Amino acid sequence: MSEKTDVLIVGAGPTGLTLAAGLLSRGVRVRVIDRAERASPHSKAITLWPRSFEVFDTLGAGRELYDRGVKLAATNYYTGDRHIGRLRMRPLTGTRFPVPVSLPQVTTEEVLRETVGRHGGRIEFGSRLESFVQDDDGVTARLADGTEIRAGWLVGCDGAHSTVREGAGVSFEGATYPQSFVLVDGEYDTEYVHDESYYVMGRTGVIVVAGLPGGLYRFFASVPPGVEVEDAEAAVARAVAENSPLRADSVKVAGSGVFRIHRKLADRMRVGRVLLAGDAAHIHSPAGGLGLNTGVQDAGSLAWRLAAVVRRGLDEAELDAWQEERLFVAHGVVAEADQQTRMWLLKGWRRWLRDVGITVGLRTGVIERVLPRRMAQLDLVLPVQGPAAGRLRPGSRLPDVPVTGRGQYLYDLLGGGHLLLAAGDEGAGALPGLGLPVDADPEVLRIVTVPLHVAQSLGVPRRALCLVRPDGVVAAAAAPSDRAAAEALRARLLALVTPAPAESRAR
Ligand SMILES: Cc1cc2nc3c(=O)[nH]c(=O)nc-3n(C[C@H](O)[C@H](O)[C@H](O)COP(=O)(O)OP(=O)(O)OC[C@H]3O[C@@H](n4cnc5c(N)ncnc54)[C@H](O)[C@@H]3O)c2cc1C
Repeated sequence: MSEKTDVLIVGAGPTGLTLAAGLLSRGVRVRVIDRAERASPHSKAITLWPRSFEVFDTLGAGRELYDRGVKLAATNYYTGDRHIGRLRMRPLTGTRFPVPVSLPQVTTEEVLRETVGRHGGRIEFGSRLESFVQDDDGVTARLADGTEIRAGWLVGCDGAHSTVREGAGVSFEGATYPQSFVLVDGEYDTEYVHDESYYVMGRTGVIVVAGLPGGLYRFFASVPPGVEVEDAEAAVARAVAENSPLRADSVKVAGSGVFRIHRKLADRMRVGRVLLAGDAAHIHSPAGGLGLNTGVQDAGSLAWRLAAVVRRGLDEAELDAWQEERLFVAHGVVAEADQQTRMWLLKGWRRWLRDVGITVGLRTGVIERVLPRRMAQLDLVLPVQGPAAGRLRPGSRLPDVPVTGRGQYLYDLLGGGHLLLAAGDEGAGALPGLGLPVDADPEVLRIVTVPLHVAQSLGVPRRALCLVRPDGVVAAAAAPSDRAAAEALRARLLALVTPAPAESRAR
């Protein structure tokens, strides 16, 4: 058996790669195995939302990925040949990645593999996990070729048919939609505008169209239940001929596929020293483009905690808190994608009602105000208990706003660790009284006083304190002169950043 590693990651899809880079960048020893002989050539997910870029940014890859994608300017809705509305993508506030972007999964994975390499890791392709056993100190994994790997922790990022999930005895319940779906990525001679997306709810099914980098398009279509698909390209061409209100002539196909859509959720994401993330824990319809994004965020919020457990002896209960938060998000995402998928496929009076709803929602601006922010999950509040300070409450996301006129943003101050924000000089004045570890390692905790105009833009009262986690989520907050809240914040901070005695970190 080889030397023990800290974390064995099974699966080098977007979830596993993000986790690997996040752990390596924090000094954790990691091995990443994937059963495939080489990187996947399939473009699958194409939509990336701001919070994923924020995770990628902590790894040094956010800007490159954002710049390589097509920025989506609007979404259009057709029912039959009738254009019922256009949702403009106004730049979202509180993030430096203000619009959703279309980028094929192959490119996202390629950039993430390079990022893993930059942090000193490599992917062991052609290595399939077959089974594992865990004990109090770690996990022994057995590969298909008989090799054994000993690791402190095992994370299953091995997709919908996860071997890790099965081995851990975690159930994965749900349902499968009756329709098949087909897609083609390629060059088109078409009237569809390249930087806009389209939902066409047509006579025989739905077509979704979006631009891809390099002038390419994705056409994605439903196939009625019971219809066998032998040729995905022909099926997309038929769906376009039957339903498309705009001209779309295929010039050259770059990739195509046929698939079924499921919605399933794991009942747990942690079993002792075994964790599950990404599609291994939740799968759903691509409606809304949230699958890859949810896996990336599972990984982003696991990386700092698992690194702190391994390197600094953080209480393992933090991994249970991670599980609770991510299952909460996964439940919401599966329900959202299900609702949108059903909306696409409505018939009769329900279809009429949906179209009226979309038309009214767009005309009044309600959809424009609500939908993009909801899909971007910028205002999502995770189930974290504790008092609030103005608009910032535990579980909410700290907006990433400029802090200086020189292009510095709040998240630049995070630097992979925790951040204690004091609102204004009076907030900073409250710090010594709290007895905080002001000499803490800056990689673990930074204490920053933000000017009052910044505090105001965050919706935080002057003299407030706010503890922010490395994933940008508020861990604790204390409004001015709320002594109990300040004491709770201090306790939370000490639990998160104070190293445990050396013997509990021994490998
Ligand atoms: C057509 C389509 C369109 C989609 N569109 C979107 C979209 O627009 N936006 C979005 O966010 N999501 C979308 N998704 C979903 C998205 O592709 C997935 O959510 C994403 O790939 C999940 O990433 P993952 O890393 O968790 O798992 P995967 O990408 O499935 O990676 C799992 C990896 O584990 C490896 N593996 C499996 N078993 C083992 C084993 N026993 N040992 C070793 N390695 C193993 C596999 O080889 C694979 O590389 C779409 C999916 C499809 C099919």
